[in-house]
Formats: sequence, structure tokens, C-alpha cells
Amino acid sequence: MPKRISPLLAEIAPSATYALFDMVQSLRARGISLLDLGGGEPDFATPAHISTAASTAIDDGWTHYTPSRGIPALLDAIAGKLALDNHVVIDPQTQVVVTPSAKHALFVALMTVLGPGDEVIIPTPSWVSYKAMAQMMGAQAVELPLDASNGFALTAAALAQKLSPRTRAILINSPNNPTGHMLDEHEAALIADFAEQHGLVIIADEIYEKIAYGKPHISIASLPKASDRTLTINGFSKAYAMTGWRLGYIAGPRDLIDAALTATQHTVGCAGAFIQQGGLAALTGDQAPITAMREAYDLRRKRVVDGLNAIDGLRCIDPDGAFYAFADISGLGLGSSAEVTQWLLREAGVVVTPGSAFGAGGEGYIRLSFATSTDVVTAAVERIRTAIADTKARRSNPLVTV
Ligand code: PMP
Ligand code: GLU
Repeated sequence: MPKRISPLLAEIAPSATYALFDMVQSLRARGISLLDLGGGEPDFATPAHISTAASTAIDDGWTHYTPSRGIPALLDAIAGKLALDNHVVIDPQTQVVVTPSAKHALFVALMTVLGPGDEVIIPTPSWVSYKAMAQMMGAQAVELPLDASNGFALTAAALAQKLSPRTRAILINSPNNPTGHMLDEHEAALIADFAEQHGLVIIADEIYEKIAYGKPHISIASLPKASDRTLTINGFSKAYAMTGWRLGYIAGPRDLIDAALTATQHTVGCAGAFIQQGGLAALTGDQAPITAMREAYDLRRKRVVDGLNAIDGLRCIDPDGAFYAFADISGLGLGSSAEVTQWLLREAGVVVTPGSAFGAGGEGYIRLSFATSTDVVTAAVERIRTAIADTKARRSNPLVTV
């Protein structure tokens, strides 16, 4: 039988995060109770003024196509936000495209710069979809495994090792999913220098920008050396608890944004009209909900990190940002990250994501999302502690087989 699946897609595994979402749904449908620290999805409701703006927009007839780039008021609001929050100055009419999700913005960004056979350097552990997206372009994701011992920070030497004549871009995610690492000035500068020296585009995924626990967020595009070579990706899912709205954007130099707009026109056309009105309300309305959510995540962060570090065999560095704890499980002696994930599901009823899903350097870790209620987070850590303690007790009792 002739092959029916494109070779570009045939080798790509389904998203590990979506596989977990589906598994949790189906186990819950069977009446199995779980504590879910799997998916990275805020448990908060979208702030009411944003939802009201979108439903009013439906009533007012914002139910048709919009310009592919986005509605002008939203483009202006994004340019204003980038200038104020990020020190990134762009022309709203030519240097930004609104997209249905940051995920699609990333897809468009990679499509903009990568052709078949080209390479993009992706520091790992990294979010599950980057590599797959690059592969869908027929390009190669060159993983650059980072080291927990220096807080998962990049070094110039490590970057240089991954360079080839086919390198076109480097993809940076700060705050990082799954490690929680955030760029400091030194690291941002070394990335900008490297990109300038080798003529690379920087794709900067800043979706977790608003979820930072003290360290200032740095947008690489604000660095003079990087401003003309950086595509900044951001969205509304995490900052405003708007995951189901599917709204994001891509901003950068005009030639790249022209190409990104072409890719948008030929794939989705535009983001939803009333959804964009919701996004406008998010950017121009009260920002207090962001602070309230961040404070709640911060409290949970302390619970999870302190709780995990108190468990014999687990080690976890304090994330600078995002809402994930990335815990080193190598001291447990319970197998690979996939095995530990299955074991936690079975023994503790707790859902986590195996580190292997995040590429090279992810094995030996599990990711625990604390974008869920403080009670669930606290109960999950306690169940993990008990399950590990019970196993250790059984192991040390020669009369009991484990
Ligand atoms: N980048 C990272 C690092 C993420 O974790 C996510 C979450 N899905 C996204 C991008 C995409 O966000 P969105 O919901 O806007 O597609
Ligand atoms: N970003 C989230 C996560 O890493 C949501 C799922 C996804 O889009 O991959 O869990």
C-alpha cells in the first residue's frame, strides 16, 4: 500500500502534554480520582472584564474575518505593551502579527526562518512542541542539553559547539518550561552576541513573562544587537488564564514579519474577531489579576519546592519563573522518568510529566505543574512523600517483597 502519511509527520510522536491531558480525562471518566500536576494550564478563571468584552463583541457583530495581521486597536495595544513592559519598540502596522495562540505564532516563526535541511538550536530541556514544529518544516532541531549544576544556563562554549553552516536560528524560552530558568543580562547578551556574529535569527518565547518570582524578565529584542534579528513570541494563555481562547502574537523586524504574515494568511487567515476583542480588554484593562495569580503561584511554588526537597531521593531547584517544578529523580532508584511517572500514577494517584518529554537532558527528571489549586498541590506532594517512604520501608524489610 502506498504511504499515506507525509514523511515530515510520520516520524513525529504526538504531544506528550496532550497525551497526558487525554489520559487524565479518560481515567477521570472511569471514576478514578487523580491529583493532576501534569498539564501547564492556569486553574484560574479568565478575569471577568475580559470575558465580558468578548461576549459584548459577539453581540456587537465581531463575528467575521479581521485583517490577517489583527485588529488595529489590538496591534496598537501590543505595541504599547512591548514598549512599556519589554523596552521593545515596534511599529504596530508593520512589525506584529496576531495569531490564534502562541503555539501558532511559534509555528509561523519557525516556518518564517527554516527551510528543509536548515538547523535551529534549541537549548533543552525544552517545551515539547519546538522540536516537532521544526521537523514539520523539514528542518533539524539541534538540541543543546543544559546542565542543572549551573541552573540550566547557556554558555558561549556550549552554543559554539552546536553551530553549523546550516544553522539559521536559536530558540530561547524565558521563563523556561520546564526548568523555570530565566535569562539574566549576561546570558541574554551572550545569546545576542552569538546570533549577531553568525547572522542568526533569535526566536524568543516569552509566554511565561508575567509569571516571574522576583528576577526581572529580559526580552532579548530589547538588546540593541538583537533588536533587528529577534522574533518575540507572546500570548494571553498564561498571563491572563486564557488557554482556551487561543490568542498570541509575533513581533519583530519588518522583513521577517512580512513573511510571517504571508504564512498566517495562508494557514489560519486571522485570529477570531471577538477573541481579539478579549485580548484588547486584557492588555488595556486592570492588570491586578496578573499580580493575584502570580502571588498564588508563588505560594504554591514554595510548597512544592520545599515539600519535594524534604523527600529523601528528590532534589528540586527553585524555579525563577513559570509554574513548574523540575525535580531530579535520579536519587530515587525507581527507574527512568517514564517509569517514575507511571509509578506515581499507580502508587500515589498523582499525574506528572516525565522529563524525557522535554528532550535531551530531561531524563532523570519529572515536571510537576503547580498551576493547580494549593490544596491539590499540597496533597500531591504529601502523597508522593508517602508513596516513596512506603516503598523504601518495604525495600528495607527483607520479609516483604516489593
Ligand atoms: N510556549 C511554551 C513554553 C508553552 O509552555 C506554551 C503552553 N502551551 C506555549 C508556548 C503555547 O501557549 P498557547 O496556549 O498560547 O498556545
Ligand atoms: N504548555 C503546557 C504544558 O507544557 C500546555 C500543553 C501544551 O500546549 O503542550 O503543559
